[in-house]
Amino acid sequence: AIGGAAYLAYGVWDLRHPDDQFEPDPNKKNLVILGTGWGAVSLLKKLDTENYNVIVISPRNYFLFTPLLPSCTTGTVEHRSIMEPIRSITRHKQAAVKFYEAEATKIDPERKTVLIDDNSDVKGASNKTEVSYDMLVVSVGAENATFGIPGVKEHSCFLKEIGDAQQIRKKIMDCVETATFKDQSPEEVERLLHMVVVGGGPTGVEFAGELQDFFDQDIKKWVPEISDKFKVTLIEALPNVLPMFSKQLIDYTESTFKEEKITIKTKTAVKKVTDKTVEAEATGPDGKKTTEVMPYGLLVWATGNAVRPVVKDLMSQIPAQKDSRRGLAVNEYLVVQGTKDIWATGDCAVAGYAPTAQVASQEGAFLARLFNTMAKSEAIENQIHELSSSLNLKPGDSASVSKEIEAHEKQLRRIKDIKPFHYTHQGSLAYIGSERAVADVSWLNGNFATGGGLTYLFWRSAYLSMCFSTRNRVLVVLDWLKSKAFGRDVSR
Ligand code: NAD
Repeated sequence: AIGGAAYLAYGVWDLRHPDDQFEPDPNKKNLVILGTGWGAVSLLKKLDTENYNVIVISPRNYFLFTPLLPSCTTGTVEHRSIMEPIRSITRHKQAAVKFYEAEATKIDPERKTVLIDDNSDVKGASNKTEVSYDMLVVSVGAENATFGIPGVKEHSCFLKEIGDAQQIRKKIMDCVETATFKDQSPEEVERLLHMVVVGGGPTGVEFAGELQDFFDQDIKKWVPEISDKFKVTLIEALPNVLPMFSKQLIDYTESTFKEEKITIKTKTAVKKVTDKTVEAEATGPDGKKTTEVMPYGLLVWATGNAVRPVVKDLMSQIPAQKDSRRGLAVNEYLVVQGTKDIWATGDCAVAGYAPTAQVASQEGAFLARLFNTMAKSEAIENQIHELSSSLNLKPGDSASVSKEIEAHEKQLRRIKDIKPFHYTHQGSLAYIGSERAVADVSWLNGNFATGGGLTYLFWRSAYLSMCFSTRNRVLVVLDWLKSKAFGRDVSR
């Protein structure tokens, strides 16, 4: 209660006066931030907004706590519980921040402008306009990779945004209700209740686990007539799922899935999708390839990231980005190579790290420190610009040129203690269903690999502590209690 009162008091005292609205100051530079995901929000949280005219642009006016998105697909957690309005972040800042709900469609690095489109739902209100920047941070994330496989875009569900989770939740119940419709043929029942997940990365694995839980713990009780027909299949092109986890945890995940009756098809690559079938090519132990056609009711596509068009377009305008394929190549200060005033964080940046929330949020926090330092004097800013733009390393090449970085570090330390960005990996966590999780955690200079029920409690507490706000934390705990006590809501 004391904590709650203190939080409320903080919330009230810490707000700016309503009259204190965004008014661009001609003496300050325009710092434009594209995105409201992990990178952008972590930058915004630590940025001293007094120093710049800060403008945030994103088609999404909220931050989404993506680690719990798979739980939203089955109603273990409700979607609003993991969304935090961007304005609840900006209203706590020292100086007002401008937010435009719009998509950045084109960046012009010559004229230093961003073309934005508000794509409004309100008829007739759609607007395109330009925003100019002195400094730009691109944190727009990535889109879903489909590798141009026919039918994927048209027929599958992705799992990136809140709308995707809502669509999957509806579709699961639609398949269940349609399967129990009068005179449904046995083949059609089998198809409708076959849930196929493509991609054995953490997204695919967590979703498959949540889906099987939903069936075992709830659907089976509410709709008993389908209890022996519901089937989840996870398809992965590589020889095993969760390649970023240790061998022991991969084995644990695969044996847990077996117990849960989730079928894993490894060394199987999907080649074509139609409205009712998935066509996949499996490689046998003898190297022989066979094609299998699987009818499905729900298809969830989780095969990783692809570069967004606005990022691709920016890359095509910068000669130094010619060899980069997976996103904007950045240097050790996260400056987009070949530019002086554009930075990038998260899934749209290539800095040699996996595209995870952890990396993006550390990069955002680093940029906040960098900008706070640069604002202290013009001289520091110029020096950082000079140094960072001369340090155009190839992504992932840092080891071979560490001497060069060291020399720069020394110079920079003399400036103001801003070392190049350094990522600290704290570990990987994934939920695998039936109240079990796997964790590869770095702690006290050691690495620990654990899996099971206790790890699940650790997973829950770790995710809870990472939630954006106290409000989110309370809502998530209430959702967990609610789904445990009353079962998940099976209404469509
Ligand atoms: P991913 O890139 O990690 O995995 C995608 C998988 O799909 C790959 O294993 C690939 O072999 C497989 N694949 C690709 N094409 C295929 C095809 N045609 N047929 C069958 N399989 C195919 O993707 P993700 O799980 O969406 O994760 C994206 C990033 O986000 C990763 O860096 C991941 O570590 C991170 N992430 C982490 C967590 C966590 O830590 N709990 C959760 C979600 C995402």
